[in-house]
Amino acid sequence: MQKFDLVRENLYLGDICAAAEILKNGSSEISHVLTVLHCPSISVFEEWRNVKLDSKEIKEVYVGDDQDSLQGKEFATESALPSGNLLYSLGHTGKDLKFTRMVVFAYDQEWENLLDLIDICLDFIDAGRKEKGVLVHCFAGQSRSASMVIAYLMRTEKLSSEEALVSLRQRAQASPNPGFLKQLDLFERMNFKVDRSSPIYKYFRLKALGYLFSKDKKFDRLKLRADPGISNERSSRSTYECKKCKRVLLFQEQVIDHTRGEADSEFDDMFKNMIGEVHKNPGDHQNQCTSIFVEPLNWMNSAMENDVSEGKLSCPKCQAKVGSFDWSGSYCSCGSKIVPAFQLQMNRVDVITVNHDAKKKRKNKHDKNNRPEAQYVLSVDLCSSLTPLMRPLSGELSLNESGGNDPNRGSNPDRGLIVAFKSIATMADRNMFCCEWSHKERDWPCIRVHSRTVGVGNRTVSSNGDYHAERRFCSNLGMSNQTVKAAQKSVQKSEEFDIRRSPISIAADVIYIITQLSDDKKLLRDISVATGVAEDTIRNS
Ligand SMILES: [Zn+2]
Ligand SMILES: [Zn+2]
Repeated sequence: MQKFDLVRENLYLGDICAAAEILKNGSSEISHVLTVLHCPSISVFEEWRNVKLDSKEIKEVYVGDDQDSLQGKEFATESALPSGNLLYSLGHTGKDLKFTRMVVFAYDQEWENLLDLIDICLDFIDAGRKEKGVLVHCFAGQSRSASMVIAYLMRTEKLSSEEALVSLRQRAQASPNPGFLKQLDLFERMNFKVDRSSPIYKYFRLKALGYLFSKDKKFDRLKLRADPGISNERSSRSTYECKKCKRVLLFQEQVIDHTRGEADSEFDDMFKNMIGEVHKNPGDHQNQCTSIFVEPLNWMNSAMENDVSEGKLSCPKCQAKVGSFDWSGSYCSCGSKIVPAFQLQMNRVDVITVNHDAKKKRKNKHDKNNRPEAQYVLSVDLCSSLTPLMRPLSGELSLNESGGNDPNRGSNPDRGLIVAFKSIATMADRNMFCCEWSHKERDWPCIRVHSRTVGVGNRTVSSNGDYHAERRFCSNLGMSNQTVKAAQKSVQKSEEFDIRRSPISIAADVIYIITQLSDDKKLLRDISVATGVAEDTIRNS
């Protein structure tokens, strides 16, 4: 029995029967069909519904790098999908070949990787809605296709995965499998964009690669990350070198964080069989971590290329042992286990911290309790579509929850920060930006500076991004009561700002001014690195 429901204007969710009928008979409401199935061929409609359809290919895009076996085809990289697989195909089909149909390949299984399909599917849905209407379907119309529609509602209406599911259920039946719900949760945590540089995605990718290996015991060298030792890039944070020969092995960005002594349980919903007997805890979480877990990198290739499941990792230059790998996971001394594990031993590597090495040491000396300082984030949104969320900074700021009250530092440093934040708000206001105070989404307080009107700022809203052209950067805004003075200064200074400048560069200036006037001077270069604003621009402000 055919079934499809109108979910939003020009957006329908249905099963395979509905898709077959619509494609066969034509439709005045629907121009695009998104198929999320384990069978990408158009013959699926003939096999299941006895509906024979013509189709004409527009293009096919594959996963992986351009290698000999795949020559002449289009590729998309960076995903955790198996190399060589079809990523999506696009064609004309249905009555008079009037429909545009995109197919992505997916089983309705917990372990299926939807996350790497979400962005292309959502863009296709957008295109379809703009033209006439789009039907999203899988087999039953409840798990695979429903998950894509949920992701779409999340992105367009800024809903949590739970809210989007509830909203969809008011119009249609939907019951995504637990693995898909997990991925929708990750999608939410990445701000509705599959951000391949985020720690969340990196961890997901590691698990997905581990799962692929556990299925066919074949190691896929295409999935290794670029070797930092032969790259022109430099880490803006820390670099790990071989202790013996100083060869660069790793950037901080490639480290997979683990929580001391805690079980690796984030993906239990998705990869049940892979996790196995992880939760026995042979370590003591009081123990220091003697190792770090990292993404699999290109220089590890030779150790893994015989499809062995475990082995040692050697420095590619001097061959000294620097760590080990185990596709079925291994433990850190603190008791944490990560599956799969690519592990460097801390006593075999040197850590070079790029920025604040010397300064941190000095700070620790001062801080008798050796307590980590609260961090303050200046978060800058460039996107004017967030207008409804904007509000001026309110007067009732309280930093009590932040734990920022440090008895070792002068009188009432919180007060200084409040004044500093207020001043930033005032300054932003004068410069056509809106400031927003928030500490809900993070453990520490942050301020958001938004551009108030389209076209303000020297960066424009990205073309496909009706949401989020956002950059964040962190700064320890020294907590001494000097900040009060600094903040006042920054307000005076703000008179001179040019309103055509981007919020990022203004924020950079604010940090600079405040930190220059506080005890804890930050180097201009560091601020430039943190904010991406040229030193000269900051200096000349
Ligand atoms: Zn550890
Ligand atoms: Zn070495």
